[in-house]
Amino acid sequence: MVRRGRVFSGARPTGRQHLGNYLGAIQNYVKLQDEFQCVYCIVDLHALTTLEDTHLLRGNVHEMALDWLAAGMRPEETIVFVQSHVREVTELHALLSMVTPMGWLMRAPTFKEKVRLHPENVNYGLLGYPVLMTADIILYKADTVPVGEDQLPHLELAREIVRRFHSFFGETFPEPKARLTEIPRVMGLDGVQKMSKSLNNHIELALSPQEVREKVRTAVTDPARMRRKDPGHPEVCNVFSLHRFFNAARVPEIDSACRTAGIGCVDCKNMLADGINEAFAEFRERRADLAARPDYVQDVLADGANRARTIAAATIAEVKEKMGLL
Ligand code: ATP
Ligand code: MG
Repeated sequence: MVRRGRVFSGARPTGRQHLGNYLGAIQNYVKLQDEFQCVYCIVDLHALTTLEDTHLLRGNVHEMALDWLAAGMRPEETIVFVQSHVREVTELHALLSMVTPMGWLMRAPTFKEKVRLHPENVNYGLLGYPVLMTADIILYKADTVPVGEDQLPHLELAREIVRRFHSFFGETFPEPKARLTEIPRVMGLDGVQKMSKSLNNHIELALSPQEVREKVRTAVTDPARMRRKDPGHPEVCNVFSLHRFFNAARVPEIDSACRTAGIGCVDCKNMLADGINEAFAEFRERRADLAARPDYVQDVLADGANRARTIAAATIAEVKEKMGLL
């Protein structure tokens, strides 16, 4: 098969993957394998920027590999690996940091947000996050990056860093472009912030059907609908917006039943939980099979790191030569 270019994406092993990760990114990780050579990375160094419980890291890496493989990654073709296993990325990070103005990083919305939320832990890693992310992508000369909407500012920065590198040292990398899904921003169970592992407002793909039901029950719905008999407003309800993906055929029916108070929020949530459970039934089976074969998963990650290293070493040699180091 002739493939058109290279895809790179990564996710932080800060917990198991959730519906936001799936709808915003993993769907595309899987789909793009048909067209591109894909490189998918469990970015453990990025997790260190905010993770306090580093003893959880090893387990989280394994869980994320299970989620990805069960979702349909094909490790025979696709490179699946752990960021810190390919040390060239830290070298490229250091080299790119020489061409990245501080002002760009300090203006990044994600950096400002992290400073606002955790003023007690503003480390250099947080500031340099977009530089390391740029290194992740361009080390593999990837041109396409499947991500959720929250990552767009980082990708814009990556393109700017690439352009600046080129202005000093000549054309070397493709300018990486984001690839969004049709739902690039899934809201969390709180209904006001994006679904995030670190905000604990998420539904993990690996939950049991009963756990999904319990989680969905905690979701915030239309705040104006206080009592069962009040008519609802589906257009402002986060639970309703998820029906589009998990109960597509029933959306018109659910819409009118909500507006006329024909169903209550509890009924609506139960329908959503049923839809999610059906959508991920096969995923759960595959995940359980993989969980019973931890050596296989470790082998996939070791093989992925070996293949990634070959590409990375060639890029580093080229970059060092251009920068006058070799
Ligand atoms: P953390 O809270 O630790 O940052 P996260 O839930 O934001 O975790 P990431 O590992 O940072 O997840 O993101 C992995 C991928 O999933 C990224 O491409 C990101 O853009 C995408 N993604 C994360 N949350 C959502 C969401 N709510 N909607 C759509 N895409 C998302
Ligand atoms: Mg995130």
